[in-house]
Amino acid sequence: MGLERKCGGESMVSKKMVDALNKQLNSEYYSSYLYLAISAYYETMNLGGFATWMRMQSEEELKHALRFYEHLVDSNARVKLMLIQQPPTEWKSALAAFEEAYKHERNVTSSIHELVSLSTKEKDHATYEMLQWFVKEQVEEEKNTNDIIQDIKRVGDDGTGLLILDRELGNRKVET
Ligand code: MG
Repeated sequence: MGLERKCGGESMVSKKMVDALNKQLNSEYYSSYLYLAISAYYETMNLGGFATWMRMQSEEELKHALRFYEHLVDSNARVKLMLIQQPPTEWKSALAAFEEAYKHERNVTSSIHELVSLSTKEKDHATYEMLQWFVKEQVEEEKNTNDIIQDIKRVGDDGTGLLILDRELGNRKVET
């Protein structure tokens, strides 16, 4: 008595699903950390536009994390904030850093798809519905990142080309 939460009650989300959602919440924060680390790396290379793009990407990931947070809270499930893994600080080149971002997004896509499968298995329709936004978002994320990688490859060692690409990436607008 006294220590019980006022609005307790059962969550609609199974223990297995809650654990998986908390893990994804953590992984979205790692994405944010990784992209901020890549942004800082681009700053050291004087690629301000690349840095801006990655910093905005980092901020997007914080919003993704909060979507999982809100879904857990709204489902009367427990949020468990875990330690965020430390990202690297160095990459071999501007291209290598972007390639790591792309590789990471592909992993995120797999884990989102695993969550969808689990929600189907657990007959968790609300979580399934919430995840559909992420399924679509991942298609966009992979496309955007891969398009830029192709541009960096096309530019190659052309300094002027890199300068133009850097300006272009610096013009990224906040998505609404
Ligand atoms: Mg994300």
